[in-house]
Amino acid sequence: MSEVRKSDVLVVGSGSVGNAAAYFLAKAGLSVNVLEKETVGNGSSTRNGGLNKMNFRGVPELSIAMYGVEDIWPMLQEDLQKEVGVDIEYETTGGYRCAATDEEMKKLKTFIPHAEKENMHLEFIDGMELRKRIPQFSEKVVGASYCAEEGRANPLKTTLGLYSAARDFGAKFYDNEKAIQIDLVKGAARRVVTEQGNVYEADHIIVAACYGSRELLNTVDIDIPFTHALCEVFVTEPVPIFMKEIVISSTGAYYGHQTAHGSLVFGAGSKFGPFSREGTYVEKRLTSQMIPSGAKGLMEVFPFLEKTKIIRSWSGWHDRTPDDTTCLEAIEEVPGLYIACGFSGHGFGIAAPVGKVLSEMVMGEPLGADISQLRFDRFLPMDPFTGADRVKY
Ligand SMILES: Cc1cc2nc3c(=O)[nH]c(=O)nc-3n(C[C@H](O)[C@H](O)[C@H](O)COP(=O)(O)OP(=O)(O)OC[C@H]3O[C@@H](n4cnc5c(N)ncnc54)[C@H](O)[C@@H]3O)c2cc1C
Repeated sequence: MSEVRKSDVLVVGSGSVGNAAAYFLAKAGLSVNVLEKETVGNGSSTRNGGLNKMNFRGVPELSIAMYGVEDIWPMLQEDLQKEVGVDIEYETTGGYRCAATDEEMKKLKTFIPHAEKENMHLEFIDGMELRKRIPQFSEKVVGASYCAEEGRANPLKTTLGLYSAARDFGAKFYDNEKAIQIDLVKGAARRVVTEQGNVYEADHIIVAACYGSRELLNTVDIDIPFTHALCEVFVTEPVPIFMKEIVISSTGAYYGHQTAHGSLVFGAGSKFGPFSREGTYVEKRLTSQMIPSGAKGLMEVFPFLEKTKIIRSWSGWHDRTPDDTTCLEAIEEVPGLYIACGFSGHGFGIAAPVGKVLSEMVMGEPLGADISQLRFDRFLPMDPFTGADRVKY
């Protein structure tokens, strides 16, 4: 039998973003329901590489990323330990972005003004200096930028730790509840209907359903043109610890880190694989091509891994926007509706501050970060609600 369930806030999607929002809101005393179409943490939040990359993040995301590094991640690291005994393994390790050519090195330097604006600490080093610090880097790396603010957290522990703590603060999670329709009441978002026929009413509705957000938002005539793309991460057998920093290639051909017990956890981009970004909704990719491609990228930088075995791998979906930058806003024209999606493969690193900012928006508090350039209508030729030419950022 269908039911009507009411709360102050309804969150759609139980990934790191939805769970972080639920956690901060429930902790502040609001009643929160969370809908998950499969099981809690089913999405990319429990399947990612765990990196918090700052360098070459979409520029409009830098403010919220810094909010995360300076305030939210360290606070969460302490609080979840106290509240539910979960160590999310957040640490600021610093990170190298590696260049294979002088051209790539030049490109890395174009980020300097953006980093300076946000007080991010960047240092540029040549290949010799890099190999002095980490001798395992091959001669193929001609230089790197080092960003002191980069770091990592454990994706599984973070997503499920937030879930446990949110539940302890009273949030209710409903598994196997796929949201299929947002209903407006007097122009405001107030109700969500699920595939099971249940109805959830709330004053505030947060859509944090990764690629599932597109279809759901279509029901209120909002279309964010992101595709969804399958990506893969692989884990090697442990090798003696040789680096603590995260490492990313300047072209995105590889990204990853070495865990405390020595395994390398790496993912790959497209440089070594025949991937395409074709497809309106779903990008055409084959996971069978990704591991060989990623392993090849990794071998170029760390040839000593030649005989190291890959022991497991997994895949997950990205929700990728045309400018690889997220959409985060309270939709002015639809009161009560908030969106947090389109994280384009680097949302885990900002999941905690995004959850905090969503809670600030809902509670009408001053925002901890400047999110003014994360509006979804940047992709549209005109204002979707009034038809007027939109103001370009
Ligand atoms: C292989 C891989 C590696 C990555 N590596 C990194 C990295 O190193 N660093 C980084 O910052 N990011 C990384 N990412 C990206 C990162 O994982 C995501 O950007 C982030 O986890 C997004 O969190 P989310 O909560 O928005 O989405 P998700 O975790 O996908 O959560 C969304 C949830 O919504 C649910 N849902 C969907 N539709 C509906 C619906 N209609 N009704 C109810 N529920 C619904 C889904 O089942 C899902 O559980 C990686 C991603 C992948 C796939």
